[in-house]
Amino acid sequence: MKNTTRVNHPPVVELPTDNHSVVAPIYQSVKFEFDSLDETEKFLRGERSGFFYTRASNPTTRQLELLVAELQGREDCLVTASGVGVISQTLLALTKQGDHVICFVETYNPTRYLIRRLLARFGVTHTMLSIEDIAGVEKALAAHKTRLVIFESPTNPVTKIADIAALTRLAQSAGALSVMDNTFAGFHQHGEYEVDLFLHSLTKYASGAGDVMGGAVIGRGDLIRSMRTDFGTLGGTLDPHAAFLILRGLKTYFVRYKAQCESAMRVAQQLAAHPAVAKVHYPGLPTHPQHALAKAQMKDFGSIVSCDLKGGAEAGGRFAGALKLFALTASLGSTESLVVAPQMMRGRDLTQDQLRISAVTEGTVRLSIGLEDVDDLMEDVTQALSAAAGAG
Ligand SMILES: *Cc1c(COP(=O)(O)O)cnc(C)c1O
Repeated sequence: MKNTTRVNHPPVVELPTDNHSVVAPIYQSVKFEFDSLDETEKFLRGERSGFFYTRASNPTTRQLELLVAELQGREDCLVTASGVGVISQTLLALTKQGDHVICFVETYNPTRYLIRRLLARFGVTHTMLSIEDIAGVEKALAAHKTRLVIFESPTNPVTKIADIAALTRLAQSAGALSVMDNTFAGFHQHGEYEVDLFLHSLTKYASGAGDVMGGAVIGRGDLIRSMRTDFGTLGGTLDPHAAFLILRGLKTYFVRYKAQCESAMRVAQQLAAHPAVAKVHYPGLPTHPQHALAKAQMKDFGSIVSCDLKGGAEAGGRFAGALKLFALTASLGSTESLVVAPQMMRGRDLTQDQLRISAVTEGTVRLSIGLEDVDDLMEDVTQALSAAAGAG
């Protein structure tokens, strides 16, 4: 064998069957082969298990799918290259021309775009309501044969709490699927509710490190199986190396989430006591208008704390800019703290009425609390609030 051949067929190192790597290896391979054409044909006919082409499935991404399905208390999962990827592929896999979808003003911006602009191009209609308008959901379900109801809780950025039991019950009795983006609450929450499909951005709490993107849809085995071919063909496959990084991130998911929630509660209390702050949005605070519902539905209240500053957009901008330990950028759930200024999150696609429902004001600032020492974070918040008030 010449070396030009050898480099393309390097020596194979196989582990003895009684010898295992403690961390599962990354199967950084697009292709897998069987020992014979017979076995290959059996696989292609669906008569045996195995792997063939990574766009369809890969052992490393499969390990991630099985893990997050179990964390969320469901049978199966499909992962994709981003959170938005999983939302778009799920919506495309589940809907067809003439279908009707119920969604909410307080929904992640790209999800609203997908429903209002993209699905609309394919003849899928929608009704967009406030997440607090349960009577409106009942009316919309009565008026239109509905394929699915898609919602979030807590909502972004003002942490409204969806009544999950009411929404799933109404959807179920109308023959509609309930689809919940559970990114804010995490894998260990809401699994006991009869949600048909959970969506997650793995970019956030799952990875934690903020260095990799991914998405997951989790649900009953038959429902996930029915979407598998569409997902493989839409092609937003998660790379095995990204799957490995997310699996590594998940090892510290529970300790991170708990610590971040504890710090978030402290910062929320601090903000609530400050004269420059008009209102704090954190479901863990007894002053949150839906605190009772949050307490009934959730074990932890998350690491997102938003507040409305009395000084409006100017004060909000100054506060966000003066924070030293909080990066002024998008995303959430990472180990470093982040801040979004009011100027960064006005829903440009919303009408005046919808903007009112969104409850995002001129002075709304969103914080994502990381793993820094909480005293350091609170000191930073104190000086930034002074800077915001002082310069006004
Ligand atoms: C970030 C986010 C997404 C999208 O995830 P990406 O991984 O950034 O594509 C979807 N839903 C919610 C609630 C999010 O916060």
